[in-house]
Amino acid sequence: MSDPNAPTPSKRSLAAQALGHVDPVTRGVVAPLHVATTFLRDPDNGYSSGFSYARPDNATVREAEGVLAMLEEAGAGALLFGSGMAAATAVFTALELGDHVVAPRVMYWGLKRWLATEMPRRQIAVDFVDMDDPASLERAIRPGATKLVWIETPGNPLWTITDIAEAARIAHAAGARLAVDSTAASPIHTRPLTLGADIVMHSATKILNGHSDVVAGVLAGAAADPFWARIVTIRSGGGAILGPFEAYLLMRSLRTLHLRVAAQSAGAAELARRFQAHPRISHVLYPGLPDDPGHAVAARQMEGGFGFMLSIRVEGGAAAAIATAARVRLWKRATSLGGVESLIEHRASVEGPDSPCPPDLLRLSVGIEAVDDLFADLDAALRSA
Ligand code: PLP
Repeated sequence: MSDPNAPTPSKRSLAAQALGHVDPVTRGVVAPLHVATTFLRDPDNGYSSGFSYARPDNATVREAEGVLAMLEEAGAGALLFGSGMAAATAVFTALELGDHVVAPRVMYWGLKRWLATEMPRRQIAVDFVDMDDPASLERAIRPGATKLVWIETPGNPLWTITDIAEAARIAHAAGARLAVDSTAASPIHTRPLTLGADIVMHSATKILNGHSDVVAGVLAGAAADPFWARIVTIRSGGGAILGPFEAYLLMRSLRTLHLRVAAQSAGAAELARRFQAHPRISHVLYPGLPDDPGHAVAARQMEGGFGFMLSIRVEGGAAAAIATAARVRLWKRATSLGGVESLIEHRASVEGPDSPCPPDLLRLSVGIEAVDDLFADLDAALRSA
């Protein structure tokens, strides 16, 4: 019998122990990897284990989903997908013909491009607005037609901050749902569902897994309402669930999430401060800096740090930025973010002419290397570019 007076462990303790799971057969403290695709039917034709086939559900996936739901305080639970894009697009696929969406001008470019090309084909209109200005969101709402407001905060790659509680108020007043891409915040810094959001999404490929060896995505829902039920159906019917091997690796990573986020965010904050004084850098974009335009809102809705992502704008334009990225030795010149190894990328080369990303911008994903090493490497590259 559990003691009703025992203190509730913190999220950090619960995640470190994968919610305290102990394997009932071996008493192993790590759950086994469940690979079966099909399950024995009972003589009475039922499935008393709750499992029948692996496309809608899998026990290893469920284990990681349990930890993610706990971290996000998700009343409806969490759903893992084969990528962040599979998770995000499941939300938009759940909309009806003729619905209207408001999305950010500054957001993950791959999803923005998908929305711009795929949504019109389903007769769903999308308006892209500056979400750091709640009045812009309010003006874009079409009463009766807007069914979803999508935000991303901090917004990739300028790290603009959107006020989640204010966006929720505006969306709900219009009868719309609020969904938040919280990839760059992680559930350690921000829990959008507690601020009024209906759905939170992460590319779990990033800090949640954190080791650059799994592609995955997750949705967590505030309430198991009909919209959430439709997303569950879309995942199982469309076969978008994460594979068990990837879920196993993700579960292993979630046990150290608190430590990685703390170290990587502290490193990013320190580098942002040091780069602000660098003669070859014109701007540092990081919501943790007191003079950043998003700082006041970020300080309200982020705790324990401001994230592991920052961008710098290099004096001398695109050519100087690209030359800097070419000269680093310790930073890895690669796309993606959130891994334990630090990455640098010239985003305008990736995002193309429609992007709000300035041509002199380098995006930095800060890993767990020594901050002095990271600074020295980029400082040398900036000075020789
Ligand atoms: N959201 C953000 C903020 C991202 O950075 C990315 C990928 O870079 C995605 C969503 C898409 O995730 P995935 O690559 O796992 O499909």
